[in-house]
Parts: sequence; structure tokens; C-alpha cells
Amino acid sequence: MPKDNNAPLRSRRLSDEEIAKNFSDMHPPLGRSEALIEADRCYFCFDAPCTTACPTGIDIPGFIQKIRSDNITGSAQTILRENIMGGMCARVCPTEVLCEEACVRNTHEDKPVNIGLLQRYATDPIFENSIGLFERGSESGKRVAIVGGGPAGLSCAHRLSMLGHSSVIFNRDEKLGGLNEYGIAAYKTVNDFAQREVDYILSIGGIEVRNDVALGEDFTLAELQDEYDAVFLGFGLGSVNDLGLADEDIDGVLNAVEYIAELRQADDKGDLPVGDHIVVIGGGMTAIDIAVQTKRLGAENVDIVYRRGPDEMGASTYEQEFAQTTGVKIRHWAKPKKLLIDGRVAGMEFEKTKLDDNGKLSGTGETFCLNADVVFKAIGQTLSEKTLGVLTGTLELNKGKIVADDELKTSLPAVWAGGDCVYGGDDLTVSAVQDGKIAAIAIDRYLREESNNG
Ligand SMILES: Cc1cc2nc3c(=O)[nH]c(=O)nc-3n(C[C@H](O)[C@H](O)[C@H](O)COP(=O)(O)OP(=O)(O)OC[C@H]3O[C@@H](n4cnc5c(N)ncnc54)[C@H](O)[C@@H]3O)c2cc1C
Ligand code: SF4
Repeated sequence: MPKDNNAPLRSRRLSDEEIAKNFSDMHPPLGRSEALIEADRCYFCFDAPCTTACPTGIDIPGFIQKIRSDNITGSAQTILRENIMGGMCARVCPTEVLCEEACVRNTHEDKPVNIGLLQRYATDPIFENSIGLFERGSESGKRVAIVGGGPAGLSCAHRLSMLGHSSVIFNRDEKLGGLNEYGIAAYKTVNDFAQREVDYILSIGGIEVRNDVALGEDFTLAELQDEYDAVFLGFGLGSVNDLGLADEDIDGVLNAVEYIAELRQADDKGDLPVGDHIVVIGGGMTAIDIAVQTKRLGAENVDIVYRRGPDEMGASTYEQEFAQTTGVKIRHWAKPKKLLIDGRVAGMEFEKTKLDDNGKLSGTGETFCLNADVVFKAIGQTLSEKTLGVLTGTLELNKGKIVADDELKTSLPAVWAGGDCVYGGDDLTVSAVQDGKIAAIAIDRYLREESNNG
């Protein structure tokens, strides 16, 4: 984390009012009449391509129909029974590449039904008024250990409770929620929504929480396998990838995810020191989020540099445009070559890139430099070495992630895994929630078969 006295980083670049405005709700909620007008735009398609495009398979026309008849609680139940984090997903899902991209309204009007905002309209009252929609299933006597209290772990715990099993969540962070609490951009989830959602999930009962404990430090996987009837691993990815340059640990070269976590936890965002010139390396959501948030803290120039073209960026076109309208510059087809150092980081030299005749990315030899008070690394996350060290030799891994089958079962007996730590996923909140749900259903079947056989 940069130090405030570490010129040229400064806190309080903007007034309190400007900061409050910059970090206010990105998509203010719909009122009743707006929601009814939007719900009326739905064709209630028989084959509902929007539902097929939703990783959790929410019956989208079904919940929109209930909004039309003012059955808001019924609408929320339709959403939350498939996706217990339907409130957070209404705020953070890249709907433009999921349900809304599939909406047939796009072909007729070039504008989909605003499914995300309708989902928020239906679910907000449930969290605001703590309306319990789900009950714990009758007690099976089985106990499941869940490692990680992010979207994957919480979703798994909630579904296990509905199915009658108890669980214990072992969580490294001080608070539950994972990246919903520590990673998602601040203007996407205001008013402590992540913790309100966690409280709602836990209110079903049968879920014990142990925060500030870590697999590999405070307990081992073998211990959990001995003590519990099944184990679910949902510990996300703890580290960011390195750039592979000399002097990468110099002052001013920062991990984007760590800075965002500080920003999310800061009581007063104006206290965060920020530079004049920010360079962000990467092309996904993290790159967009760190760029937009530092710009909104008052950085003068923020450049995202990505080694390929706009179509290859992990961030959607909508997110790229969102960053650009905030004043962030996105430079494509360039890769970091060298850090420029003057006691601390002062800039970066880049080499322009292109695809060669075989479609392989290569440098053109042409270079350019950018000034930088801070360089943020945002080129993807990876399992931390500590966690990997614990797993190596026991679990089957691929490219540093856990291999799991369609039901999220790993190579170890009675061990399932889901969310970002699993190989082949798309690293979205909604997908982590779906993994937790699928794994819980598979664990339930396994536990019942065990009981019948035993
Ligand atoms: C900056 C950023 C912005 C993002 N923005 C979006 C967005 O706008 N929309 C979207 O859909 N997705 C977004 N994502 C992705 C999304 O947040 C993740 O896909 C999702 O949170 C993954 O959930 P998870 O439960 O697998 O892991 P995480 O959310 O990472 O949770 C992992 C949990 O495991 C715990 N843990 C870690 N190691 C251990 C250990 N050894 N022992 C015990 N507990 C451990 C941690 O404390 C944490 O609570 C973003 C990601 C980042 C980094
Ligand atoms: S695709 Fe669009 S119009 Fe059709 S059911 Fe889904 S939201 Fe409604």
C-alpha cells in the first residue's frame, strides 16, 4: 500500500462531496412505476434465452411476470431459490454478456429488458426487511467443512442447510463475503450490501462461522477429512500474477486487488493516497475497476495497457466504454518491457505488439514510455503459493487450479470444490454461486447414499 508521505502520492485530491458522488450507487434502483414499465417490455418468451444464458438458470420471465402482478416477494423467491446471491448478482453481473445479451428485445429494439435492475427491484425489499424465504431442512446429523466464505462457500452452506446438513465455514478473512466484500468495485455495492446479504444467508441457521483461520496455517485438509462427513473447498485465488520484470518489488508497483480491498474497507475513501499518473497492466474486470476507482479518487492520468485488442479483453465492451467515459485511456497492443525507476517507480517502457502470421502474439520492436507514480498489476489471479503448497501432492491440479468434474467433485474422496479456485471457470460471482449450489446438491446425494449404505 502506498504511503501518504511518499510523494507524489497524495490523499484528499477531491472534496468529500466529489468522492461521495464518485462512489455513489452506479445504477440507482428502479421505482415501482419504472419497474412496471420495464417489466411490460418482456415478451415472456417460451424458450427464454435469457434464462439459458444465466449461469444459475433463474426463471427470468417467471420473476418478471410476478413483478407485473405486484407479487414482489414471490418474484424474489423465484430468483433466490436458484441464486441465493441474486441481490449481489443484480448489482455486479456483467448482464451485457449474459442474460441481457441473449434477450430477444435486442433484435427488435437494440435494447434488452433491463433484467439486472428488475432483479434488484424484486430482491432489495427481502434484504431490507429481512424476510425469511427459506427454511432449514430436517436435520440429517451430517456435518460439512467449507473452506472459504466467499460466494462459492456461502452458496454451498446455504443449500446444505436447506437440505438438512450442518456446515462450518473456515474463512481466512476477518469478514465473510470474499471478493463481494473485498474486491467488487465500491460503486457497484454501496451501503454495506455485501454484509447484509451474508447476514441473510446465515439467518437460515445450521451454519457455523470461524473467521481469521486458514487452511494450511491453522488446520490441514486431512484433519477436515477426518472430522467431517464431506469437505467443500471455495477459497478463491489469493495472489495476483507477476509481470515477470526486473525490480517488480520496487516502491510504487502494486497489486490491484490489495489496493481495491483497502479502498473497499476504508471508512473514508478520501484518505487513500493516489498518484497523478497511474498505469494499469491487464485487460479484465480488475484492470477496469482499479483504473476507474483511482480516477474517481482524483488521479490525473490513468492508462490501462493491454497486450492484445479490445475483443480479446476479459472486460466486456460495456466495461471498456464505462472506463473510457470515466476518463481512463485504454491502450491496446502493447506489453510491458521495463520499469523506469528513479528511487521508486517513475514510469514504464512498453513494446508494441501484433499477431504474427501464425496468429501468435509478438513484439514489433517499436517502444514507447508512460510516466507512472503507480503501476498496478492486474493480469489475473492465481492460487497463493501457501495454499498451493498445502494442496500439491494431494489434489489433482491443472495450471495451479483444482480439477473438478461437472458436479464439482475433486480427485479426493468426499472433497468438492467450486468458484475461482477451480480450473475452467469464468471467475464471476454468479458462477461461484452456481458451483456452490451444484456441489451442495452432489454432497447431499453422497451423504444420503452413505447413510443408506452404512
Ligand atoms: C477486483 C475484482 C473485481 C471483480 N468484479 C466482479 C464483478 O463486477 N462481477 C462479477 O461477477 N465478478 C467480479 N469479480 C469476480 C468475483 O468476485 C469472483 O469470481 C468471486 O468472488 C469468486 O468467489 P469465490 O467464493 O470462489 O472466491 P472469493 O470471493 O475469492 O472468496 C474466497 C474466500 O476464501 C477465503 N480463503 C482464502 N484462502 C483461504 C484459506 N487458505 N483458508 C480459509 N479460507 C480462505 C477468503 O477469506 C475468502 O473469503 C471480481 C474480482 C475481482 C478480483
Ligand atoms: S429474452 Fe428478454 S423478452 Fe424474452 S423472456 Fe427473457 S427478458 Fe423477456
